[in-house]
Amino acid sequence: MTKGPKQGIATRGVHAGAPERRVGAPVVPPLVQSSTFLGGWGEDASELLYTRYGNNPNQEQVGKKIAALEGTEAALLLASGMAAIAMPLLSQLDHGDHVIASRYLYGATLALLGEELPRRGIETTFVDPDIDGCWSSALRENTRALVLEVPTNPTLRIFDPRIPAAVARERKIMLLVDATFASPVNMQCADLGVTAVVHSATKYLGGHSDLIAGVVAGSDELIRGVRDMMKIYGPSPDPHTAWLLDRGLRTLEMRVQKHNTNALELAALLEGRPEVEVVHYPGLASHPDHALASELMTGFGGMLSFVLRGGGDAADAFASALELAMVAPSLGGVETLLSQPRFTSNLHQTPDERMALGIPDGFIRLSVGIEDPADLAADLERGLSAAARVG
Ligand SMILES: *Cc1c(COP(=O)(O)O)cnc(C)c1O
Repeated sequence: MTKGPKQGIATRGVHAGAPERRVGAPVVPPLVQSSTFLGGWGEDASELLYTRYGNNPNQEQVGKKIAALEGTEAALLLASGMAAIAMPLLSQLDHGDHVIASRYLYGATLALLGEELPRRGIETTFVDPDIDGCWSSALRENTRALVLEVPTNPTLRIFDPRIPAAVARERKIMLLVDATFASPVNMQCADLGVTAVVHSATKYLGGHSDLIAGVVAGSDELIRGVRDMMKIYGPSPDPHTAWLLDRGLRTLEMRVQKHNTNALELAALLEGRPEVEVVHYPGLASHPDHALASELMTGFGGMLSFVLRGGGDAADAFASALELAMVAPSLGGVETLLSQPRFTSNLHQTPDERMALGIPDGFIRLSVGIEDPADLAADLERGLSAAARVG
């Protein structure tokens, strides 16, 4: 691509990382579905190409595109969002090291930090980012990484990455931020001082609920370390997944804009309804982090949640009455999905434990898709009528 001022994010989504232009080349980078490549004889000292190493052309193109979208030196595609969280941590942490992590984390990340790494002699202190000074007061001599997720699941809290970033910078340690719910369109994490930006590409980056992948973006040095771990542990993406993800990224910006406007519209509709006790959406003035979200984000995202006054029965009635939105876990695809955390992410907690987290029965999470907003609104009306009959 031509040098000069940084291009817009939609342009980067279409063009960044593309192979060199020459007459006869395909407009769309071809799928190179090959595990291995010629090389490895005598005088040839060039890098060996092998798909587990992450240097298949499709993997490399996506890595360059992600780095361009995030504004980082480098990025790496991995086989899942969890691989993209685990590999940077494994590359930075040794037996005896300590991690400070937000307590608002994706379930498998909580298990990784709270159970799996401790089995390997790496301890985590969980902090509440709502409390001033939580990061610096949890610091120990052996603290080697800070971990934050923003926006959070399922209450869409927004915590300021610049606060742990200042602590990480001073200590010269990694700040890993899982920004899956924001996508690079709504939040530019590297600009906020994040040194390891992570996404589950399964969600908005892929955008069509048809692939599993993850990405890490950061410095050349960080990504080299992550790649070394990927070579050893092996969570390397298949070339077809990389190709599909590249296709998804071409429409990332316009999809996310549509998710943003649809979700804002539905959040406002729900907030005005008597069946609804509270709506969690950072784009609403009533959200506790609205001012911070407005400062940090260029859009408020496609995820929203709300609580029906009628409790679990009302939520069940709501979900069964919908004709467009589908009940399924996961998020970030073009289709609207609905889930009840008491049956998914928070299944193994008691109602009291969920209540303490702000997730009473009657809590519904929506991943708002890119359908026509009038049709989605009509669908929610169907759900609300059904909920009103129960509650
Ligand atoms: C889905 C998700 C993950 C895990 O991603 P996979 O691609 O399923 O491994 C991690 N963090 C967040 C916030 C997620 O939503």
